[in-house]
Amino acid sequence: MQLYNTLSAEERAQLIDEAGKQRLTLSFYAYAKIKDPKKFRDDLFIAWNALDALGRIYVAHEGINAQMSIPADHLEDFRNTLEVYDFMKGIRLNVAVEQDNHSFLKLTIKVRHKIVADGLNDDTFDVTNKGVHLKAQEFNNLLEDPNTIVVDFRNHYESEVGHFEGAITPDVENFRESLPIINEQLQDFKEDKNLLMYCTGGIRCEKASAYFKHQGFKNVFQLEGGIIEYTRQIKEENIESKFIGKNFVFDHRLGERITDDIISQCHQCGKPCDNHTNCSNDACHLLFIQCDECKTAMENCCSTECLEITHLPVGEQVALRKGLQVGNKVFRKGKSDALTFKNSGDLPNKPLAKVDSKNIRQKIAVKKTLIGKAEHYYTKSKIAQFLIENNEVSVGDKVLISGPTTGEQEITITEIFVDGSSCETAKAGDQITFELPFRIRLSDKIYKILG
Ligand SMILES: [Zn+2]
Ligand SMILES: [Zn+2]
Repeated sequence: MQLYNTLSAEERAQLIDEAGKQRLTLSFYAYAKIKDPKKFRDDLFIAWNALDALGRIYVAHEGINAQMSIPADHLEDFRNTLEVYDFMKGIRLNVAVEQDNHSFLKLTIKVRHKIVADGLNDDTFDVTNKGVHLKAQEFNNLLEDPNTIVVDFRNHYESEVGHFEGAITPDVENFRESLPIINEQLQDFKEDKNLLMYCTGGIRCEKASAYFKHQGFKNVFQLEGGIIEYTRQIKEENIESKFIGKNFVFDHRLGERITDDIISQCHQCGKPCDNHTNCSNDACHLLFIQCDECKTAMENCCSTECLEITHLPVGEQVALRKGLQVGNKVFRKGKSDALTFKNSGDLPNKPLAKVDSKNIRQKIAVKKTLIGKAEHYYTKSKIAQFLIENNEVSVGDKVLISGPTTGEQEITITEIFVDGSSCETAKAGDQITFELPFRIRLSDKIYKILG
């Protein structure tokens, strides 16, 4: 019986593209008492693998926490796999606002000690004595109350690109750290203030609210389903968004736009920007904010040091990495002295800029013709492979590479290889490769820009 992934991420991405079916990105969690998490894990893997469900899931004695990508036409079957368990009957699935077929490319279900690393000793307080759950409108109403203190229970890189107006945004790298800090900071307000808390999907607040009640806070409220469910409700019921900016998410999209306000800056040049990226240097992977201009100039690196390393032969890069903790900065730290404009702690409530929708429209208005699709990206050598399906493309042509994750990237072709040899022009049917500083996805299309 297959209990683990057999496909690589690239192979999976290709299968998803070939299937051409729409997928849904969703998340859910449930606290419960699970006797045998290992068996629970294996049962879920078998049921979900059969449905082509993908994602990152944690199970523990205390429950389940899942972020997933499901084929849209299997959603009902997927629900049925949850209904088997009493504690997941009728469970709310948080469906993401923006959809991306490549949000997850593996099904990874891990057995953990806890489903959220909160550092709390659950035996010392009543975890079922939670805060009052609020819907979007109720949350907005309480925000207006001058007697309310609103706290963001996410990390610095999450609150930096988006948060509720007036929220306290602790300068922490993880949830565990934020609990004592907030407890200390709000010592004098336990009796009479409303403590209003929120996080991405609601799960962190489930236990944190009980912890704060145990600490003596009298009026504890939590945003039900977190920012994800809040966004769904404000759109459906046409409620004003008190959340400004982007909601950081943990799949490779790294963010969902909630309002068109940009509240953060490019960490390198200071220009208003809220696009997170990971440094291209495989030995770094620092999570940081980078604008398109800096991305081009720095080739998606966080520092000149990393840029130099990525220009070394792969063998030398590997040798340099020896003994270093690879990838430890991906989600955990996101801080580096090289980043001049990194902000955390006290964050602005006034937007620095608005998303320029006019600019986006102008980009779409560029005259272009579809010439082919992405087939592969060789990460190590930064070589992209495309299949030319229509027309032809020559050295010197301007092309647009476009896709949900890649966005719209314009480049001028400086060399083309067909079957490994350099040539001037590639025609329909040719499989071409060329160097590209950014990663492409299999759903990306390539257009020739005309005129
Ligand atoms: Zn910049
Ligand atoms: Zn770097």
